[in-house]
Amino acid sequence: METADVIVIGGGIMGMSTALDIAQRSKLKVMLIEKTVCGSQASAANFGNIRFYDWSSDLMPIAIRARRVWEALPALLGTDGEFRQTGSVRVTFQQSQLDELATYMDTARGYDFGFRLLHANEAKAHFPWLHGSTGIMLSPRDGTANPRLVSAAFRVAAARAGVTIAENAEVREAAHANGRFVVETHDGRRFAAEQLLNTAGAWANGISGMFGESMELMVLGPQLGVTEPVRGFVKSMISCFGNFYFRQTERGNLVIGGLGRNYSDTGTSKHSIMPGNMVGIYERLIEVVPSLRGIRLIRTWSGVEGYTPDTIPVIGPSATTPGLFHMFGFNGSGFQLGPGLGEIMSELIRTGASGNSLEAFRIDRPRPSEFDLAIVGSPVAPRHRRVPEGSRLSA
Ligand SMILES: Cc1cc2nc3c(=O)[nH]c(=O)nc-3n(C[C@H](O)[C@H](O)[C@H](O)COP(=O)(O)OP(=O)(O)OC[C@H]3O[C@@H](n4cnc5c(N)ncnc54)[C@H](O)[C@@H]3O)c2cc1C
Repeated sequence: METADVIVIGGGIMGMSTALDIAQRSKLKVMLIEKTVCGSQASAANFGNIRFYDWSSDLMPIAIRARRVWEALPALLGTDGEFRQTGSVRVTFQQSQLDELATYMDTARGYDFGFRLLHANEAKAHFPWLHGSTGIMLSPRDGTANPRLVSAAFRVAAARAGVTIAENAEVREAAHANGRFVVETHDGRRFAAEQLLNTAGAWANGISGMFGESMELMVLGPQLGVTEPVRGFVKSMISCFGNFYFRQTERGNLVIGGLGRNYSDTGTSKHSIMPGNMVGIYERLIEVVPSLRGIRLIRTWSGVEGYTPDTIPVIGPSATTPGLFHMFGFNGSGFQLGPGLGEIMSELIRTGASGNSLEAFRIDRPRPSEFDLAIVGSPVAPRHRRVPEGSRLSA
C-alpha cells in the first residue's frame, strides 16, 4: 500500500492545480491518481474562455482570485499558456438584448471591469466586419488561454513540485475507516491518506456516491470546431446572443462553438459532434462575418463535462465524511476558475479554512429534483440521458 497525506482523484485542472499548490506551500505528501493521463478530458478540450462577464455574486470572487493566478502563470508554470487579456465582445441582434446588457452593467457597477456599451454605428466603427448587430458590450479585461498548453504545464509543474502522479489508474473503490482513506484502483493497487479530494470531473458523482453523497450530474459536451487560418481581423473573444462564440488564434485559425450541447458518455469517455449543430455554428459565423464565406472547417470536437441540476458547482468539504473534499460540476465554466480554485481548495485542505466563502457550493444544499433542459440548448440533441443518482463508476 502506498501512503500519502492527501490523495487527489482526477488529474484535470482542478486536481492538478490543487495538488501543485499543496505541494508548493506545505510539506504534505500529495498523491494524484488519474484514470487515463492528466489533462486529457475537459481541461484540455475546452474553448479557453476566461471572462469577468456574467458570474453569480458567489462565483465572482473566485473568478477574480483565479485571474490573479492567470496573470502569474509564467512564474507558476514557466509558461503563460497563451493567456492573453484580449478583451471580449458580447454581440446583440435585438434591442431587448442590448437593454439586457445595460441592466447587467448596472448590477456590475461595483466592479472595475471597464464594461462599455456601444450602439450599432459605434460597434461597426470598431469592428467593420461585424454584420447585423444592434450593439455590443465590450469587456476589456476578459481573455483566453490555450487549454492544451495549460493542462500539460500544470502536470509538469505538479510533478516538479513533488506531487506523486499515478496515471492509467482508475479509482474503483474508496472508503474511510479509522481516520484514513483507502483507495483502490482497477489494477488492484491500494493507496492510503488522511485526506481525500474528489476532482473527478464528470465522473465525480461516482466518487461522492462511495461516501453516501451522490450528486446527479448531466454529462454534456459543448460543440467546438476550428477553421483554416485567415488573415487576422479580431483579437477579442466574440460571444453572440443565441450561444454562438468564436475567437481567432495568433496563427489566424478561428475556434468556433456554441448552440446545443450533446450528451457525452462517462462509460467510454466519448463525446460527439452533432453535424447539424456544427453546420448551424458555421452558418452563424458567416452571418456575423459575411467576408468569411467559403472558409474551411478543418476539425471539430467536444468533451465530457458535468452539469449540476442547479448549475452551481460543488466546492468544499464532504457532508458525510471528515477529511473528504469535493470540487466538481462546473457547468462549462471550470477551466477559467481552475487555477484560483486550486489555491482555495489547497488552503481548505492545508488549514481547514478558506479565504473565500464556499457556503453556496455545499454538496448538501437543497437543489431542484430536475435539470433545466435549457442547458442542453439544442433541438437536434438526442433524447435526455442522465447519470443516475448513486451510479458508482463509469466502466
Ligand atoms: C468542449 C468544452 C468547452 C468548454 N469551454 C470552456 C471555456 O471556454 N471556459 C471555461 O472556463 N470552461 C470551459 N469548459 C469547462 C471546463 O473545461 C471544465 O469545467 C473544467 O476543465 C473541469 O475541470 P476538472 O478538472 O474538474 O475536470 P476534467 O478536466 O474532466 O478532469 C477530471 C479528471 O478526472 C479523471 N477521473 C475520472 N474518474 C476517475 C477515477 N475513477 N479515477 C481516477 N481518475 C478519474 C478523468 O479521467 C479526468 O482526467 C468547457 C468544457 C468542454 C467539454
